[in-house]
Amino acid sequence: MAAPHDLHHAVLCELDRALDALDLDEDLRGAVRDLERVVVVQVPYVSDEGRFHQLAGYRIQHSTARGPAKGGIRFHPAVTREEVAGLATLMSVKTALLNLPLGGGKGGVACDPRTLSDREQEQIMRSYTRAIAPVIGPDLDVPAPDVNTTERHMDWLADEYAEVVGRQVPAVVTGKSLANGGSAGRDTATATGCRHTIVRAAQHLGLPAGARVAIQGFGNAGAHLAHLLAHDGFRVVAVSDSRGAVYNPRGLRIPELLADKMTTGVVTSYDDAEVIDPDELVDVDCEVLVPAALEGAIGAREAERVRARLVAEAANGPCTAEGDAVLADRGVTVIPDVLASAGGVTVSCFEWQQNRAGERWTERDVAARLEERMRAAFDATWDLATERALPLRRGALVLGVGRIADAIQARAREDLNLSA
Ligand code: GLU
Repeated sequence: MAAPHDLHHAVLCELDRALDALDLDEDLRGAVRDLERVVVVQVPYVSDEGRFHQLAGYRIQHSTARGPAKGGIRFHPAVTREEVAGLATLMSVKTALLNLPLGGGKGGVACDPRTLSDREQEQIMRSYTRAIAPVIGPDLDVPAPDVNTTERHMDWLADEYAEVVGRQVPAVVTGKSLANGGSAGRDTATATGCRHTIVRAAQHLGLPAGARVAIQGFGNAGAHLAHLLAHDGFRVVAVSDSRGAVYNPRGLRIPELLADKMTTGVVTSYDDAEVIDPDELVDVDCEVLVPAALEGAIGAREAERVRARLVAEAANGPCTAEGDAVLADRGVTVIPDVLASAGGVTVSCFEWQQNRAGERWTERDVAARLEERMRAAFDATWDLATERALPLRRGALVLGVGRIADAIQARAREDLNLSA
């Protein structure tokens, strides 16, 4: 796993290459690279044993040039300012690439949810919400779920924010429960978006019918994706979670695997497969590898061992810069995180739009709009990358960063007109 500070650095290096390709001048480069606002907060809570604890929390807005900052909140022991900054920057590129009227941000609390009760997590979420309340809002910054946070956490945030401002403001956060103003299709959105990109890339690459897939990470994105891809006729041959991995070259029966994981909490309870070490997942003979866990999972050493022709980054930042370079050298196509994992924020945008308009879209409507957005972003990225002979990641960055730079310039010109 990459050291947490590597992520912001790696994202900025990638951003720089896109800025070079766009040939932007120094000041504009700075405006695109720099963080707009960094908020560090104290998150106090009292444990179930009655002891006072204090956690570090962050909310970072990388860019609001194209609209309110948008991005999740994670609960994880590895959360640092640098990690959140890198993830916030990636969110700006992601929303721009999908052409959503939003910017990019991210938040996190450095804690280990595995050691926290529900009551403690609720208290932490409410405490964190009070601390960041002055810098969030439907026109300013709209949080959402991320690693280890769910619709319950978002409902707590919405409720606590309503307490602070004295009225209900559903559009302050997305990824809420359906009963609390959430959108149809939000829970499966990341997986669905990723599925669209894999299907499209598989067509371009001419992958065989029944192509074999290995999925690293069996959380919200990974588990739903396994289900969708199996339904599409792919053969999911291996999956891992943080505690183990299972492999069956003939394919895993996903409904049973999901049921077993639900009951026992581990994928290794599924019995029609060989139990392998989670580190061996990258070695599995397959056509498609999906890193759907945390960042930094595929470094140079892992990338050397990858046997897949296609890697789809369902998580944020799973390939390190070194891993990415090795994959490129070996001719492996990588669908970058800003594209492959963009389904979640896209449906989050739909949720925000529905809340603001007082509307409720049907699941079918949400699915159709998501497919259209993902397809447009994929095709634009694929075409640009092919035309300029760039890896898909560079193509996606050039598109996204170009749109952010355009918005920054347009706003600066408006300021000029006002004062003239
Ligand atoms: N946490 C998700 C992501 O990294 C979703 C963010 C959102 O919905 O705003 O894209």
